[in-house]
Amino acid sequence: MNTTSTLTSFDWQARADALTIDGRSFIGGRRASAGGQRVRPTWSPVDGRVLAELAACSPDDADAAVAAARRAFPSWSRLGAEKRKGLLLALAALLEQNADELALLETLDSGKPILQTTTVDVPGAISTLRWYAEAADKQSGEMPAVQPGATALVTREPLGVVAAIVPWNFPLEIAVWKLAPALAAGNTVVLKPAEQTSLSVLRLAELAAEAGLPDGVLNIVTGTGREVGAALAHHMDVDALAFTGSTAVSRTLLEASGRSNLKRLSLEAGGKSSNIVFADTADLATAAAKAAFGAFYNQGQVCSANSRILVQREIHDEFAALLVAAAAGYLPADPLAGLGGNGALISSAHTDDVEGWIKRGRAEGEVLFGGERREIRGSDAYLEPTLLGGLGAEHDVHREEIFGPVAVLHAFDKEDEAVRLANATDYGLAASVWTSDLSRAHRVAGDLVAGTVSVNTVDALGNTTPFGGFKQSGFGRDLSLHAFDNYTATKTTWIQFG
Ligand code: NAD
Repeated sequence: MNTTSTLTSFDWQARADALTIDGRSFIGGRRASAGGQRVRPTWSPVDGRVLAELAACSPDDADAAVAAARRAFPSWSRLGAEKRKGLLLALAALLEQNADELALLETLDSGKPILQTTTVDVPGAISTLRWYAEAADKQSGEMPAVQPGATALVTREPLGVVAAIVPWNFPLEIAVWKLAPALAAGNTVVLKPAEQTSLSVLRLAELAAEAGLPDGVLNIVTGTGREVGAALAHHMDVDALAFTGSTAVSRTLLEASGRSNLKRLSLEAGGKSSNIVFADTADLATAAAKAAFGAFYNQGQVCSANSRILVQREIHDEFAALLVAAAAGYLPADPLAGLGGNGALISSAHTDDVEGWIKRGRAEGEVLFGGERREIRGSDAYLEPTLLGGLGAEHDVHREEIFGPVAVLHAFDKEDEAVRLANATDYGLAASVWTSDLSRAHRVAGDLVAGTVSVNTVDALGNTTPFGGFKQSGFGRDLSLHAFDNYTATKTTWIQFG
């Protein structure tokens, strides 16, 4: 049976109506109300309904979570990598058993289509968790050459308590990108989800306890960035902070680290990625289909979204027609219907902001496709995928992150011009290049300032390859063995025997 027919015949709304959602935090192995019993409602952008009352935590609650993580650290770090692997694999198995519920929570909380959360977000999170669980006991130290009469051992040590602060666009996946390597390496974790999307990670923490992770190893504190996020960033007993979010908040975290205990930071900040399509591209239809995916997937709320599409002039019109046709595959639809197409953006207010960019595009250039807001299930957080054109390369739309389903198309003549345009942003997260000339592929990939350059595809990403940025897209890498650098430090033990 194919996935789509299974999904469409499933009554996700009935499942949603039957859910009992607990919005309390998870501290020291159990659910916890916020001190002072403060709560805050969380709404679904799918239909505007209130999903749950979330614990509105304060800096005191963050303190309690850090204290629980600190208490758990000595025994977790000394448990041994093989046992940590076993527990993380047990958690992955429980996530798999509860995959439908997690996908539904993710869809209701974030507005993503259920077709995406069941086939990408939840399976992706499970795959990454398994990958780091398996990597846990396959790390070796070094024995560098030192002077005669001595032996030196270089080992990797966990840092202690890791705080992770994550955004709303891939709530479960990005949380796992942080907590899986941090826990596998022997750290304990306090995670603060985005205030809009806390539900899937709260359920994950419950499943972690069921899998046998000791109390305090993984804690989730819900609340605002201003209160809980800032308290973790300034905390004297947090050893490292792993962040994904905006460049603006990244700056405040650097300052907080400097003002507190110099905690280690890894910062995955924003992006404004280009997709360069050369006239020698072998298969323009595939390039256009992938360009639409790169720009509009996940409602365009992707840090590495290829939202600037630079096309060589001689194929511009042909490519534009193909791209417009491909964009139609991302028109919004009911996220619970189990069909393709896009879902809702994260909120009505964010949709207002993105629509503001479309209004500017219409006034100062032209709208080549889309541009309209739609109402579905009584919510107005739905936007057509929108392709803008006729905007000069100096226009803000080429430099600022929109974080919605809006892309701009722009013609170029020469290779060096394309590279110059692509690099003319403060960000350096990702870029894509389409060409059938191998020398050009290497040359252009070498010249692009980006953490990932995808050639003849877009947004290439996998467990084995590092993901992160240059320039104001931040520093530190998620995914791959390189992520362990965020959560470990080398220790040299020098033994003199001669
Ligand atoms: P955001 O920076 O506003 O929020 C991210 C997280 O930081 C949230 O949990 C929020 O509560 C918290 N936060 C907010 N203010 C804080 C403060 N003063 N101190 C500590 N924590 C604080 O970003 P967002 O709007 O949730 O997400 C969109 C942004 O995330 C975009 O800029 C996008 O590019 C970026 N992003 C980057 C990547 C990447 O890997 N580079 C991936 C996804 C999203």
